[in-house]
Amino acid sequence: MVKVFIPGTLAEALEIRGLHKTLIINGGTDVMVKYRRWNGMAPNFPMDVLHIGSLAELKQIAIVEGKLTIGAAVTLSELLEHPLVPEYIKLPIRQMASPAIRNMGTLAGNLCNASASGDSLPMLYALDAEVTLASVRGIRKLPVRQFITGAKQTQLQPDELATEVTLPLADYTLSYYRKIGGRQVNAIAKASFFAVAIKKNGSVEDVRIAFGSVAPTVIRCRACEESLIGTAEAGLAAKIETVRMRYGELLTPLDDTRSTADYRRQVSLRLLEDFIGRRLAK
Ligand SMILES: Cc1cc2nc3c(=O)[nH]c(=O)nc-3n(C[C@H](O)[C@H](O)[C@H](O)COP(=O)(O)OP(=O)(O)OC[C@H]3O[C@@H](n4cnc5c(N)ncnc54)[C@H](O)[C@@H]3O)c2cc1C
Repeated sequence: MVKVFIPGTLAEALEIRGLHKTLIINGGTDVMVKYRRWNGMAPNFPMDVLHIGSLAELKQIAIVEGKLTIGAAVTLSELLEHPLVPEYIKLPIRQMASPAIRNMGTLAGNLCNASASGDSLPMLYALDAEVTLASVRGIRKLPVRQFITGAKQTQLQPDELATEVTLPLADYTLSYYRKIGGRQVNAIAKASFFAVAIKKNGSVEDVRIAFGSVAPTVIRCRACEESLIGTAEAGLAAKIETVRMRYGELLTPLDDTRSTADYRRQVSLRLLEDFIGRRLAK
């Protein structure tokens, strides 16, 4: 019989995490599916469970020194409704799941689940997000691209929990997210593409591009982005083919029940062309 811990404070949660081997439940929208059993039966949790979804300390959203911090227990719906969260961060979240799931699910849960098809991950990589990990030993911050080490793999230690996600803010003039799924809502991405850019006087001052669902983790290539930076709108069309070829080498999609590797590759590169040719160049 597993124990269920429902701590009242973060300090209590960290103490429990340090003393017991626990499975963290935040919104539970991934965990409950993963460990579900037949109707009417309790989930088949492999170890004691630590519920952190109600901790007030993890429910905060704030801007500190130009960075947005989102507490680990902030739900996706709360994030979407919050006035401090810019639209380019909300963009992929709007396309996640359905209202009922967004009322429970969290950004931190999507990150810690580290699925190759997690909708928030391309955005988190593109914006150079960091995750804060806490334990009774102390606190450490890791860039998301280091925290995630593979499909469903992270650097989270057994006594740690993620307390917040931090995103540097910028005045992006353009944001773009496309998710290819089997239907409009409640669909896991077959492929996804997130990009933001700053354009000034008809030229690209910054651009960040990230592909989801086409490799074990998100694909981002700063050298490819830099090849577009400084380019005037009129010069972008001439660069599409080179950039497309470079990304084509980096994408390593899989065949699975949701899609084929070939479809994922083709559609992802078409989204890249669409973004550069129709949005960045206009
Ligand atoms: C019907 C349905 C539709 C869905 N649609 C989408 C979709 O369109 N796009 C998408 O990306 N996802 C989708 N999901 C998956 C899920 O809703 C998201 O991944 C959600 O963001 C998970 O958040 P959560 O808080 O519920 O995570 P949980 O299920 O609570 O946890 C997920 C994992 O992260 C760990 N974890 C959670 N919080 C922490 C923390 N603070 N510190 C350390 N570890 C932690 C847990 O131990 C677990 O391993 C869907 C799920 C369902 C059931």
